[in-house]
Amino acid sequence: MKTYFRILAFVKPYKNYIAGSILFSILYALANGASIYLLIPLLDTLFLGGSDKSSATVNQSAKTSILPDWIADIQHSLSESFNTFIFGGSKIDALTKIVFLVMLAFFLKNLFGYLQAYFLAYAEQGVVKDIRNQAYKHLHKLPMGFFKNEKTGNLISRIINDVSVVQSSVSTVFLNMVREPITILVFLGIALSISWQLTLFSFVVLPISLIFIALLGLKLRKQSSILQQSIAEITNLLYETISGVKIVKAFGMEEYENKKFFNGTLSYFKKTLGMVRVRNLSSPVTEFLSVVVGALIIYYGGKIVIEGGGLKASEFLGFLFAIFQLMTPIKELSGVNNRIQESSAAGERIFEIIDIEPAIKNIETPIRKNDFTTNIIFDNIAFHYSDSDELVLKDVSFEVKKGEIIALVGPSGGGKSTLVDLLPRFYDPTSGAIYYDGIDIKNIKIEDLRKLLGIVTQETILFNESIKNNIAYGLENYSFDKIVEASKMANAHSFIEELPDGYDTIIGERGLKLSGGQRQRLSIARALLKNPAIMIFDEATSALDNQSEMLVQEAIERLMQNRTTFVIAHRLSTIRNATKILVIDKGKIIQSGTHNDLINIDDGVYKKLYEMQFRDIQ
Ligand code: ADP
Repeated sequence: MKTYFRILAFVKPYKNYIAGSILFSILYALANGASIYLLIPLLDTLFLGGSDKSSATVNQSAKTSILPDWIADIQHSLSESFNTFIFGGSKIDALTKIVFLVMLAFFLKNLFGYLQAYFLAYAEQGVVKDIRNQAYKHLHKLPMGFFKNEKTGNLISRIINDVSVVQSSVSTVFLNMVREPITILVFLGIALSISWQLTLFSFVVLPISLIFIALLGLKLRKQSSILQQSIAEITNLLYETISGVKIVKAFGMEEYENKKFFNGTLSYFKKTLGMVRVRNLSSPVTEFLSVVVGALIIYYGGKIVIEGGGLKASEFLGFLFAIFQLMTPIKELSGVNNRIQESSAAGERIFEIIDIEPAIKNIETPIRKNDFTTNIIFDNIAFHYSDSDELVLKDVSFEVKKGEIIALVGPSGGGKSTLVDLLPRFYDPTSGAIYYDGIDIKNIKIEDLRKLLGIVTQETILFNESIKNNIAYGLENYSFDKIVEASKMANAHSFIEELPDGYDTIIGERGLKLSGGQRQRLSIARALLKNPAIMIFDEATSALDNQSEMLVQEAIERLMQNRTTFVIAHRLSTIRNATKILVIDKGKIIQSGTHNDLINIDDGVYKKLYEMQFRDIQ
């Protein structure tokens, strides 16, 4: 229930629309009631001739009413003046008036129904939009670790599918809890005013069918929530395959993946069929049961009419219409609880994301920092990822002075990427501290810190936008000339010029394929334009052709100029140029110094590494 109220909090901005919807619901129910009530005089006009007032006018005194006298009086005088208005003239007059009134009532009913539905949909869709936006916004605050653990497909499914389920809870409350009771009141009023005995009788027999219909509804709900899970699984599989398409191909796993996916769709197929079976069974069964109940009521009521028990045939028909109109709202109301449960479950899955406290956030009054002047110090850092207690970094202490190039080398899995991920605070160290110009990194405003840093990784992330926007990603004030200048420095300008729309070419459209080297040069251009004081660089190991390699290398060297650089180094030239090399193995710095220092240590790790990894590269 708590979750449910949280969902309802999202409705607040749309309260005017909800109010409108409720108002039109009430008008709708009244017009609906009127349209049924009008059937009585219509039938009278057609079958009894209408002008026969004594028969057309309900003979109140002949009926025993359960209503208090004053209400009965009002009702009596209302129906009196209504009858006088309708049947005051000729039969044709009466027919004209009735037909006109019936048209008006149906017109109003439909108009109000439409407005009510529109207002409600506005609120519902607004809530969906707002919840999605909040969940998406929150994604950006979540720790990096979250995205590695959480299955991405599952995450997408929550934001898309679960939010749609939540949508129905809005209508549940405001439609079912408001419109249906009003409809019930209106039609119950009509039924009671026609014959309270018959109403009572109906309420004894009606539950027979209602209970059965409610049970079917329950089963349908359950199955629909199973379907929801099933579609989430398919989304997940789809996402995994699409994002890992290269691996699937490389390992020849197409058949395996096909089988997995086919199993998913088969299970969805079976579950859907199960639901269709119940759903399709429900309408003939419901109809038959309604007919049985209807037949009982018709028999009982028909007997009263035939035996002259104070009920006219026209009234009886009006009564029947009213009673059957009651079925739907009662049925809807019986399902309210289920629907609340269902949307609460979906809501919970969404709030689970929204409630994750960002592990890395600004302190209350963070220190603003717009430049980097002196040094970065790693002071006795230890680190482990949240999913394991094993230390990935330990006893890491070193200093980097402004303008230095630090090359991180070492066997794969040693902790190099983890170490550089601490610089922009993608993760916080488990113990120890990092200082920028003597200020603890945790006290610096995160946005400022990240502005100081530029990152070029092996995985070049480009967005489905123009080349121009990709290069200027994240920057607010930039001129086109600057973009061109950065592209020139990154050796990207000439290939961009050759693209169909130059800098306006959209990446990912019209089959535009960029080579690995081109993509890298674009991301170098992006970094050059940002012009950060500190550069973090994960050198690509991917095989680039010689020409491309040379262009990329040149661009990298320009990027490193006049900057403090951390580079996970794979190229000999980078290592040679580095001010300091840190050799990292099993989370520890096992050697540090320049290339010339380290190469002379005979049985040192660096020397071995150099002989194995670097000597052949250049
Ligand atoms: P390197 O960059 O030197 O290859 P990494 O920093 O990537 O090394 O990895 C160091 C260790 O941390 C490895 O054992 C790796 O399995 C582990 N690791 C890396 N990323 C994560 C993560 N997100 N969650 C848990 N463990 C990780």
